[in-house]
Amino acid sequence: MNRDGLSRTRTYAAGALALLAFATACGDNGGGGGSAAPAATTAAPRASAAGGTPTAAATTPGAAPAPAQGDAAAWAKWNLKPLAPAPAPPADKPIKLERTGTVPVFSDVKTSDKVVFVTIDDGAEKDPKFVEMLTDLKVPISMFLTKDIVKNDYGYFKPLQALGNHIQNHTVTHPVMSKLSADKQKSEICDDQAALTQQYGTAPLLFRPPFGDGANTPMLNTSVQKCGPRAIVLWRESMQIHDMQYQAGDKKLKPGDIILAHFRGPKELKGATMTQMFGDLLARIQEQGFSVARLEDYIQAPAS
Ligand SMILES: [Zn+2]
Repeated sequence: MNRDGLSRTRTYAAGALALLAFATACGDNGGGGGSAAPAATTAAPRASAAGGTPTAAATTPGAAPAPAQGDAAAWAKWNLKPLAPAPAPPADKPIKLERTGTVPVFSDVKTSDKVVFVTIDDGAEKDPKFVEMLTDLKVPISMFLTKDIVKNDYGYFKPLQALGNHIQNHTVTHPVMSKLSADKQKSEICDDQAALTQQYGTAPLLFRPPFGDGANTPMLNTSVQKCGPRAIVLWRESMQIHDMQYQAGDKKLKPGDIILAHFRGPKELKGATMTQMFGDLLARIQEQGFSVARLEDYIQAPAS
């Protein structure tokens, strides 16, 4: 697990505890064993640095409806038990992002809602059945897309976006960021930001470094700031083929956990399809009594 020295990390968030837990990261570079990645320190964004914090009333849109999550027949079609409906998103967002300055790094969201968040990375497998599945089930996801992996078919992700799902930044070539110069880091993030903004009509608010690598380094934080995303998002659980790998020793989901999954197909999943993997993920969430909420509904974007 500790090859490449990726497990070493420096804590950047001042005053936060470094949690040196490890997780299998976006291991799509072959090998399959997974590189170790640092868990984020759960750092609440610093309140009111320069410029002050805008009032909630000025920036919180009217109570957004909870994501609708399919009907019973739709779940039955996919041989799944329905998830409990997610509660309405909190009006007072647990994570409030600032327009400038250091970006927070987090792997979960402070909430007492019995919800988890599903993030899906890279974009390699473009299975039309998965679009059909999400259209049926309306489970919210966040997509962290890598330009060189999605550029042959940007269009695949548009119906997923049209369901209300957000597209976020995951570099151009999926490198180990801590091995790059500051300039290279910036081109990896800024060029993905530009391509995704152009293709999907909205600028990613969040960034995830491949393998979680370098997340807590000042250099990567600075590079992210220069490209536009306003937070670095890691994870607490990593979906494999039929079950999750947990950072927590008790192997249980906790309210607010962020789950990492990937757009993967039979080649990476030992014959299982993307929809089978995702169905198994939902079953693991359902049997622990959680619902899936939209990550971006728990995050307040900076006032523009
Ligand atoms: Zn990845």
